[in-house]
Amino acid sequence: MPHNVTLIPGDGIGPEVAVAAARAIDATGVEIIWERVELTADIIAAYREELPQHVVDSIQRTRVGLKGPVTTPVAGGYSSVNVALRKRLDLYANVRPVRQLPGLKTRYTDVVIDLVIFRENTEDLYAGLEHEVVTDVVTSLKVITRTASTRIARHAFEYARKLKRKRVTAVHKANIMKLGDGLFLRCAREMAQEYPEIEYKELIVDNTAMQLVMRPQQFDLLLMPNLYGDIISDLAAGLVGGLGIVPGANIGAEYAVFEAVHGSAPDIAGKGIANPTAIMMSGAMMLDYLGEIEAAKRLRGAIEQVYRDGRHLTGDAGGTASTTEFTDAVIQNLAPSR
Ligand code: NAD
Repeated sequence: MPHNVTLIPGDGIGPEVAVAAARAIDATGVEIIWERVELTADIIAAYREELPQHVVDSIQRTRVGLKGPVTTPVAGGYSSVNVALRKRLDLYANVRPVRQLPGLKTRYTDVVIDLVIFRENTEDLYAGLEHEVVTDVVTSLKVITRTASTRIARHAFEYARKLKRKRVTAVHKANIMKLGDGLFLRCAREMAQEYPEIEYKELIVDNTAMQLVMRPQQFDLLLMPNLYGDIISDLAAGLVGGLGIVPGANIGAEYAVFEAVHGSAPDIAGKGIANPTAIMMSGAMMLDYLGEIEAAKRLRGAIEQVYRDGRHLTGDAGGTASTTEFTDAVIQNLAPSR
């Protein structure tokens, strides 16, 4: 049975890496009918709405999306379409596995980094509730609810149980935001009681940042509200080789959209040098979600082999290959051996 998947290339480096990922996924032999949907900063500005309906319609049809990044204007302009999509489709769990790749030189070659970030994806300061009370006085509302905190906690603990992981660490700032982050922690603690075989810990977010830099090998699964998850994801990406590497999934009860942690990277867009690893690895997560476990494993293996060989790496990974050369090497590794 072929799978219908919405492909949103996005803008900036998005189309370059998303098309590369689609090629690699096709090369696994899994039959995907791609429904390509354009979504760029220009389109959003032209539609004059935060999230054009045709994008939502497509994902509601296919139920699964593979998405490149979309640019969001800074300090003004329209709200983030990426955030809007997660909220509209109720993609409450943002899951980001952070792992080293074989052969890729980083600052942490002497330890094993294998952690997964579970970022609540629908509320917190991303509720977008900002208000200028009087001139030069602004409030931004941080929304934390029991419903959202409980379901992201359940997602993390279920993942831990299924994949036999050891420990969940809830990351917070409840020493200061006693009510909001306090509620998030209470929900995490309650959930931990339902999973006695999994160790549960708590860590304040600023300490977490320092610990990640000093001893990243101590972490297993990290559970956190939206904003901390956003920031810690980039920090963690930096530990294993940068944003070109780390994949992600936005998962809800009905739909799922797979996308890298990175943004549209305007500094390298259009040059054909972006690293497609992150979105290809997101594609492997998508194949798992679609039940194509063996193909997902082969795709991961093919990507890892390119890193082991070290001859076709993009600039951010220390090589000189283009996005296309990297992708061709992955596809070569997927070809059946003669
Ligand atoms: P960014 O992730 O786009 O780039 C940060 C740095 O990492 C840049 O130097 C960039 O060149 C590098 N980088 C990122 N991805 C790379 C890749 N695949 N290969 C090689 N190098 C890579 O972050 P930013 O510059 O802060 O944001 C740019 C735009 O992207 C903003 O408009 C932001 O809102 C948007 N954004 C979108 C998403 C999304 O669509 N989900 C996520 C994050 C940021």
